[in-house]
Amino acid sequence: MLNEFSSALNESPCTQSGARAPFSYQLDDTEFWRHIPAWSEIDSKTFGDHRWQQRNSITTLARIRETLGELVGSTLIDDIDAGLMRTRMNLRLTPYVFSRINWANAENDPVRRQFIPLGSQFIADHPLAMDDSLAEDSNKVTPYLIHRYPDKALFLPTTLCPVYCSFCTRSRVVGGSTAVKSKSTYGAKPLGWDSTFDYISNHPEIEDIVISGGDVLLLRPKQISQIGISLLSIPSVRRIRFATKGVAIMPMKFTSDIEWVEALREVSRLGRDLMKEVSLHTHFNTDREITVWTSRAMKTLTDIGVRVRNQSVLINGVNNSLDCLRYTMKKLANLLIQPYYIYQHDLVPGCEHLRTTVRKSEGMSLGLQGSMAGFNTPRVVCDAPGGGGKREISSYILYDQEIGVSVWTSPAAKPGAIFYYYDPIHLLEEKGQAIWANPSAIDSRLAKVRAEATARLDFAE
Ligand SMILES: *Cc1c(COP(=O)(O)O)cnc(C)c1O
Ligand code: SF4
Repeated sequence: MLNEFSSALNESPCTQSGARAPFSYQLDDTEFWRHIPAWSEIDSKTFGDHRWQQRNSITTLARIRETLGELVGSTLIDDIDAGLMRTRMNLRLTPYVFSRINWANAENDPVRRQFIPLGSQFIADHPLAMDDSLAEDSNKVTPYLIHRYPDKALFLPTTLCPVYCSFCTRSRVVGGSTAVKSKSTYGAKPLGWDSTFDYISNHPEIEDIVISGGDVLLLRPKQISQIGISLLSIPSVRRIRFATKGVAIMPMKFTSDIEWVEALREVSRLGRDLMKEVSLHTHFNTDREITVWTSRAMKTLTDIGVRVRNQSVLINGVNNSLDCLRYTMKKLANLLIQPYYIYQHDLVPGCEHLRTTVRKSEGMSLGLQGSMAGFNTPRVVCDAPGGGGKREISSYILYDQEIGVSVWTSPAAKPGAIFYYYDPIHLLEEKGQAIWANPSAIDSRLAKVRAEATARLDFAE
């Protein structure tokens, strides 16, 4: 049965290095989930029901074991067990995404790597990693609103998600506590949102609202309407975006949760009446997450007039191959999902094995430019640690590649300030690694970088 799933993966630069264009953009329309022993009898209608997906989501090691049966050995199960003792994120996968994992090669699987930690793959955190790497808490203006940029704000109505990603930038608050991290998670509390709507009304310079979390997929239809209508009714708000991984990890939500879709349709219609944009930002990282179910979800979203864009994270061992990334972006574009951002992995703890260097991301950016329509070419950005906001990956003012330190400014969000991003130490050349291993050597080298950065600041701005 395993081979059945492998052969469902069509030939592309993601399955075969060195594969040559033209590639097939054919979508997997097989009953791929049947290769999972527990779901071998599940028919398409059942699999396509969002309630079944939610009820059968995998949240414990015991469930992984039961669901996979003989498909995997005890070595892998023990490795997952060790991973769960070290991760800051809860375990949660929908059956859809769980069955997109090629369990015959789970160790190196790009989907497994995003959602299920293996103890053997952890690497010590960077000494300068930060819990709140983007300094969001310092830009918090209400319990649910982050206001960093002059004309846009980020509304976080919930910290729960239908899946939990090992690389989550908000691992400090998203999902429940784990063995190594306690959190103050919150669910949707609509009665508490008024102060957020008031703040936005009282700050007419705010034109764009991102509604994220957590994931808006878990908001009730009533809450989608409440948020959408309240925000669109504020005269100064011109655009709103709902952020959800749903299209990538539970596409059947958009074809089987009629009430939720109706709520979004109502918000979209109001947006059109007012000449305001209502969009949905989703999050695919690999082509493996794209199937015929994606195109069904997109048919619905296109019908209701919601524009869909994608934001990916560049993740080591998941999507850091240029040919595969390019193919994935084009495949998304073909489904009317516009590639928008590819993020440099944030400098958060617990996922050092998943980060890459700024140099690597620059290479991706160079290789993506010019290889597809300009409006489908994602911008590769680094969200500058400390609250500098998103910066074009090549716009650093200084990059000491040997020790992996890049220096950023942010004239629009924080004029006059300097921000630093640190590459993962294990990916540096030996000489750079040796400098980090020597406290006085690294201190003086960092002091040198800081002095040089300060000297360049006036010039850069
Ligand atoms: C990313 C982000 C936004 C939206 O920025 P865009 O570049 O328009 O996508 C708004 N506020 C915060 C705090 C953000 O991190
Ligand atoms: S869906 Fe987004 S917010 Fe939720 S765990 Fe993944 S990255 Fe974090």
